[in-house]
Parts: sequence; structure tokens; C-alpha cells
Amino acid sequence: GDGEWPPPPRDFRLGPNRAGMFKGETNAFYYVVWLRDGRELSRSATALGEIPQPVRPTGRVSGPTGRSNGMIREFFEYTPPGECLLVGRSIAPELANQHQLAIWVLGLGGAVLVFGLAGGGWLATRAIRPIDLISVAAARIADGDLTQRINISDTANELGQLAGVLNSTFDRLEAAFARQQQFTADAAHELRTPIAVILAQTQATLARDRRSEEYRETLGACQRAALRMRDLTESLLKLARLDSEQEKLHRSRIDLTQVVQECVALMRPLASEHQVTLRCDLTLVECWAEPGSLSQVITNLLSNAIKYNLTGGEVRVTLRKENGVVLLEVADTGPGIPAQQLPRIFERFYRADESRTGGSGGTGLGLAICIAIVEKHDGTLDVSSQPGVGTVFSVRLPQME
Ligand code: ADP
Repeated sequence: GDGEWPPPPRDFRLGPNRAGMFKGETNAFYYVVWLRDGRELSRSATALGEIPQPVRPTGRVSGPTGRSNGMIREFFEYTPPGECLLVGRSIAPELANQHQLAIWVLGLGGAVLVFGLAGGGWLATRAIRPIDLISVAAARIADGDLTQRINISDTANELGQLAGVLNSTFDRLEAAFARQQQFTADAAHELRTPIAVILAQTQATLARDRRSEEYRETLGACQRAALRMRDLTESLLKLARLDSEQEKLHRSRIDLTQVVQECVALMRPLASEHQVTLRCDLTLVECWAEPGSLSQVITNLLSNAIKYNLTGGEVRVTLRKENGVVLLEVADTGPGIPAQQLPRIFERFYRADESRTGGSGGTGLGLAICIAIVEKHDGTLDVSSQPGVGTVFSVRLPQME
């Protein structure tokens, strides 16, 4: 021929396997083959429009070279003599697919976000609702309605526990307020009697001129009423002082035996007045206490044991250490206290037998003060009584190391 070596190909054919790739739809693979002089030797049916022949790369190139143009991705390779073989395809369908996928992902992500926000909001509201309930109840209570409680069935798990704790606090608050109210009412009631006595006595006496012994009698009655009021107010002040958390005891190391002996000596006149014998059985005991307050406990217990005793009866005071505590017992041979009244005798203003003690009797605050003092010393005050045999009051105080 024309001297070219090797001779240029005249024809381009693919095996049936390969040819299958270049058949069919427009988006399938295509190929173009150029001769050395740039004429097209062959192109697949799928190669559409003008496809420019790629420029032959300079230098040594091994393997096919790629090029891209818009949606088209192509690879070409030159044979050593100069024929050019190019295959390519459009990536439009893949891009379209990816586009679709992006829209899906965006849509799904958006939906997840919206549902997440809505669900989170719903959950948060649900979680916060019990706190709402609690604060509403607390606000009502703060406004003065102490009967208000938090509805626990509405408050889930952990908050339910909190609501339970708050409710029991409110219970105690309500009870404390009720006690306080009762106490104030009782105190006012107790003070009213001596005031009424003084007013009645003075009014009646002042109505006309009296003889001097009548004035003396009136003044005597007024003095008794005033003394009663003094006792009462002193007891009330003592209780207020004991109730207040800030008031601290002025404790010191004291010889309890000596304190008991002094109290017993103080009570001897009252005992002989009631024809009651006082007996002591004291071991030497020291403790950490406020001596004035402890003397008040002991004299209160002794005076009760003497007052509520039989003529010719006996009061026995014992002091010893037992089971690691200091034990002080005041036992009498009086008529005793009926079992149903026993738990109430420590209540403020409680008097077991009004007919026996009323009027000139005690204030009903003595034992209330005793138990308050003993408890402030970290001790206990107990009573046991056998009707017809007698009563035993036991004070237990922590022992000194
Ligand atoms: P009061 O001022 O009436 O003595 P207390 O608080 O000291 O008040 O005592 C309360 C009540 O307990 C008394 O009214 C009395 O009925 C009863 N009580 C106290 N001590 C004895 C006792 N040793 N024997 C029998 N009853 C007692």
C-alpha cells in the first residue's frame, strides 16, 4: 500500500459479549475509533452528535487517559501507530439518582428532626407537668391553705417520691400549726380564769365600803390569782424557750447526786405537809447538763409524786447508772394513772383528773416542760403506772465518757 507499517485497520468489530455493552438506550456506553489521519473508522450506535477526537498525549503514557465534559466521562487510548480508541458514557442517570437520594435524605432527615423536636417537646412537657402540680400545691399552702396536698398519682416515679416527702412535710407542718393554735387557745383560756377572779373580786368589793378583813380577803384572792398567772406565764416562757431551736442549753459537768439532794431538800416541807415520806437511794453520778433545768425536772416530778399521793404515802428517788445510761427514778405509792390517760399526761395543759386538781391545782404544763427539758438533753422520760400501787417516772440521760 502506501508504505505505512503496520497497515492501518479497515474495520472495527467487537465480540458479541462486548458489543452488547454498546447497544440499546442512549445512556449506555459508546465508543468511537479514529484512524491515524483523524477520520472516524467506526462508532457505536449509541455515540450521538459530534465527539471531538482527543489530543494525543505527549510523552510515554501507559494505559487509558480520562477526560470529562459536563455529564460525559470518557477514556481514550492511542495505539502506538496512531489510531485512537475512545469509550465513554453519560453520568446523567447516576447524577439524577444521587439527586433523588439527596432529596430523600433531606426529606427523611427533616422528618426525623421535626418528629424529634415534637416528641422531645412532648416528653419535656410531660416530665415538667408534675413539677407544675407540685409548685401549684406549694403555692396554695404558702397562701395559707394547709390542707392542700400534691396528688401523688399524677407525678411519675422520682418526682412521685419527692411529692411523697413534700406531702409528709406538709402533714407535719399542718399538725404543728394545729398544735400551736391549740396551745395558744389553751394558754389564753388558762389565763382567763385568774383574770376573771381578780375582776369579780375587785368589782364586788369596790361596790361599797368594806371592813378591813373583807379587803384582806379580797386581796388574798387577788394574790392567789396573780401567783397562778405568774406560774403560768413562767411555764409558758420556759416552754417557748425550750421550743426555740436557737436557744442552747448552758451545759456543764455537774454532780447529779448533789442536784437531786438539793431538790429533795427543797421538797421536804411539801412532803411533810402531805404527810408523805421521802426516801433517797443515790449513787454518785456525773453528767453533762444544765443544772437549773434538771432541777426543774426533778422538783416537778417530786411535787407530782407528793401531790398525787395518799396520806402517809411514800416517794422513793433512786439514781444510778444502768446499761450505759444515767437512770433517775421517782416512784410514788399514789393511786396511779389509768392506762388510757398514760399517753396523754405529757401533753401541754393535760390534767388527768380535773375534779381533783382543777382550780387550785397545777397548770398541766409541768410534765410537758419536763419532757422538753429531758429531750433537749438527748434523754428520755418514761412513765409506768399501776393503779392502786403507784407510778414510776424514769429519766434516762446519756452517760458522761
Ligand atoms: P399538773 O400541773 O396538773 O401537775 P403535770 O403536767 O405535772 O400537770 O401533770 C399532768 C397530769 O398527770 C396531772 O394533772 C396528774 O393528773 C397526772 N400525774 C402526774 N404525775 C402523777 C403521779 N405521780 N401520780 C398520778 N398522777 C400523776
